[in-house]
Amino acid sequence: MGRTRRARRMNGELALLHPDAHCELDFRTPLELTVATILSAQTTDRLVNSVTPTLFAKYPTAADYAAADPAEMEGLLKPTGFFRAKSKSVIGLGQALVERYGGEVPGKLADLVTLPGIGRKTANVVLGNAFGVPGISVDTHFQRLVRRWAWTVESNPVKIEHAVGPLIPRKEWTILSHRVIFHGRRVCHARKPACGACALATWCPSYGDGPLDFDVAAKLVKGPDAAARARAAALGLPVRSAEEMVALARDDSA
Ligand code: SF4
Repeated sequence: MGRTRRARRMNGELALLHPDAHCELDFRTPLELTVATILSAQTTDRLVNSVTPTLFAKYPTAADYAAADPAEMEGLLKPTGFFRAKSKSVIGLGQALVERYGGEVPGKLADLVTLPGIGRKTANVVLGNAFGVPGISVDTHFQRLVRRWAWTVESNPVKIEHAVGPLIPRKEWTILSHRVIFHGRRVCHARKPACGACALATWCPSYGDGPLDFDVAAKLVKGPDAAARARAAALGLPVRSAEEMVALARDDSA
């Protein structure tokens, strides 16, 4: 099966497996999502969500961030880690938005990446989830999984984004990012992927990198795992031997 067809099949299976995939950061406006995404570096979305209600109430506009007292901001952001750098970024963000964009978050990638604390990943999160502009967000889960799936051999996030984009319809890019991240968090872990309970096994060249026994693998599945278990059981996994998957991967890359 060709790479594009295989990637589209896998995206369809991910949709069944993670119907609840979504942006896990709480926000109501593009500014709130931009700030929350900056804060999410090196920490969990849950931790960010525990801090942002107070933060958003205290600083409702870009001008409020621009005028914020750094020490006060650092105190509020402390639980998220790297609080000095994050404080500098969100205050700088507020100042740049006021000076250059009338206090509004711009809806274009080229503008977003010029703002303090915003790289391509953050910009794509903001575009996809606050503006409805399709974007692929390449985080560590996304990097690991698309390489395991041989969707690309690239390791640079921008090159990964450009390699994966043509495989999947553009309108699916944002939700694809969420589905892949959910699969990375719940099933395809960095150290021990739950291959024996993974509904993507049929199409995955790395099937066999983790335990193949269903009972062992099912214990590795995190989150509300009923869907994953049921799906795996319905498919009668393992559906292929590790040797067959390696042979399929060779055929695919030939
Ligand atoms: S089969 Fe294994 S390596 Fe492949 S996606 Fe599933 S858990 Fe990850």
